[in-house]
Amino acid sequence: MPPSPVWTTLVRELAELLLPQRCVACGAFGDALHTACIGRLAAADGARCSRCWAPVDTGRSACARCEVAPPSALVARRAAFRFEGIARRAILEAKFRGIRALFEPLSLAAAEAVPLEWGVECVVPVPLHASRERERGFNQGALIASHVGRALGVPVRGDLVRRARRTRVQASLGRMERARNVEGAFVPLEGGAGGGAAVPASALLVDDVTTTGATLEAVSSALRAAGVRRVVALALAIED
Ligand SMILES: [Zn+2]
Ligand SMILES: [Zn+2]
Repeated sequence: MPPSPVWTTLVRELAELLLPQRCVACGAFGDALHTACIGRLAAADGARCSRCWAPVDTGRSACARCEVAPPSALVARRAAFRFEGIARRAILEAKFRGIRALFEPLSLAAAEAVPLEWGVECVVPVPLHASRERERGFNQGALIASHVGRALGVPVRGDLVRRARRTRVQASLGRMERARNVEGAFVPLEGGAGGGAAVPASALLVDDVTTTGATLEAVSSALRAAGVRRVVALALAIED
């Protein structure tokens, strides 16, 4: 029988308090990731599709896929890093080893990848299934959203959509299976926005890693159904 999530969380929190933090990039003690070491992570820059941020040949503004059938609910997607090397290790350690201190520098760097003209009204995390949050002891999407929201000076809205069912881990699936796996998995929260807050006109959806964009598109559909007119997305890292 696996150790109970309460114990796992407690042991992790104790370890975070007692063990000196080593930087995931340079290995030196101090921070989980030094601000000065962020530049060592592979940036998701260069020629990219203005809609989905997939790499394109120099001189092109849209990828072949978006030229034929761009995502319908999601207007555009950006990411700060390529999901490889140190960036990949940092995100996996943050998520699966619970090194939560890594989310702040990664999220602040990601917020810088948001184009000024997007002018979003709020940040929305990809909803995590309650059972997954219990297993992990924290909700990484909510952590990323709080850092990004603070950096952009806009509120986090977790009261617009919810996950209707638990889905299989996307990383284990192919492109077609990924779209099917998350289809209809997210729905608007009944009764609209909680606490009587107005539905925002635009939202920035945030996630840790994006690959095909199927999850972001599925959550965007739910946000559109909730009344949000314009949805854009930001991930810490993109898997090209
Ligand atoms: Zn460092
Ligand atoms: Zn594209």
